[in-house]
Amino acid sequence: MSRLVLKFGGTSVATPDRIRQAALHVKREVDAGHQVAVVVSAMAGETNKLVDYVRGISPLYDAREYDAVVAAGEQVTSGLMALTLQELGVPARSWQGWQIPIRTTGAHGVARIESIDSANLLKKFDEGLHAVVSGFQGIGPDNRISTLGRGGSDTSAVAVAAAIGAERCDIYTDVDGVYTTDPRIEPAARKIERISFEEMLEMASLGAKVLQTRSVELAMRNKVRLHVRSTFEPADAATPGTLVCAEEEVMENKPVTGVAFSRDEAKLTLHGIPDKPGVAAAIFAAIADAGVNVDMIVQDVSAQGRTDMTFTVGLVEVDRALAALQKARPLIDYQEILTDREVAKVSIVGVGMRSHAGVAKTMFAALAKEGVNIQVVTTSEIKISVLIDRKYLELAVRTLHKAFNLESA
Ligand code: ADP
Ligand code: ASP
Ligand code: MG
Repeated sequence: MSRLVLKFGGTSVATPDRIRQAALHVKREVDAGHQVAVVVSAMAGETNKLVDYVRGISPLYDAREYDAVVAAGEQVTSGLMALTLQELGVPARSWQGWQIPIRTTGAHGVARIESIDSANLLKKFDEGLHAVVSGFQGIGPDNRISTLGRGGSDTSAVAVAAAIGAERCDIYTDVDGVYTTDPRIEPAARKIERISFEEMLEMASLGAKVLQTRSVELAMRNKVRLHVRSTFEPADAATPGTLVCAEEEVMENKPVTGVAFSRDEAKLTLHGIPDKPGVAAAIFAAIADAGVNVDMIVQDVSAQGRTDMTFTVGLVEVDRALAALQKARPLIDYQEILTDREVAKVSIVGVGMRSHAGVAKTMFAALAKEGVNIQVVTTSEIKISVLIDRKYLELAVRTLHKAFNLESA
């Protein structure tokens, strides 16, 4: 019998009525003869509320206790979903991460799934019992509850799909697919029928939060067929949404597939550092030791043996980065640090860039025409990112969406 994973995000399970709507999609698949594992998020707003409680009590919280608290939201939803399915005549049982178990690394708050023992789930499937699995959580090597980072239920769903050999992993959410950009910013955004794993990976890591980056990575590695689709379409008239699949299955020949953005960035410039080997290493060692991720990096040309190094970090990490740099000042020997907390990153993504020339020119010209200044640029084979003043973010997203003709199919 074929197996499916259906994952429902926070908005999709925000109230008992919505849980019922979600359960009707599950019932449809069960009635069609599938063995189903449902993966659920916490009800909308719950995880934020729990995170706020933790931060309110303990700003530099113990990550093990953070996980004990924030994993609770999913436990509630899994029980409610199992009960709702039972009421609809679908035999179902809830599972917490530790019960399966879903084993993770010990990095509390940002753990990665290492293995899932599917034997228990498969045994229960054979007894006719469908599974409801709490997303976002697992159990660490210390035998304590761990969580997978914000948005982590997507990753739980893909990992369960790989572990049980599911035919498909359907991510049900509040949009009916992956769009050319966030439809909340650009109403003319268009639904993409098929997108390659590589492009989806870039879109997710550059800010499109519709899928957690790690879930796309896992799906690509395990060849899980991933659909993004809407919970709010009637269960008897559901459309397939967007398929995330291998590049060979995608028939697009535009240079750019989508526009992604990340609003909350910060830019740090170390002014007047010695232009000699070892200085960059000292800067980024200090930042890395503080556990801060660096994104874009540029170094200026040198004058009188000194130069400037500019890089970006997430806005929430800027104070930790500054503290680390101040501590390392004797080693780095910079003259001053300039901080800009008002920047954002906009990116264009597309495998078509490999074969189309002039993409950067079109991007820069379109932004220039709107008076948007570009502060830093980074590129890879299939994306170009620019750092801009945050107040121009919406304008930049819409301008690029238009410049690359993304409204029309
Ligand atoms: P869930 O709670 O179901 O996990 P999320 O809020 O995490 O849902 O992700 C869905 C949201 O992602 C959408 O409501 C949309 O605003 C946003 N989003 C950002 N970029 C895109 C995109 N390119 N396509 C679709 N949705 C996007
Ligand atoms: N509830 C968790 C969060 O809000 C996980 C998820 O929804 O994917 O981040
Ligand atoms: Mg999400």
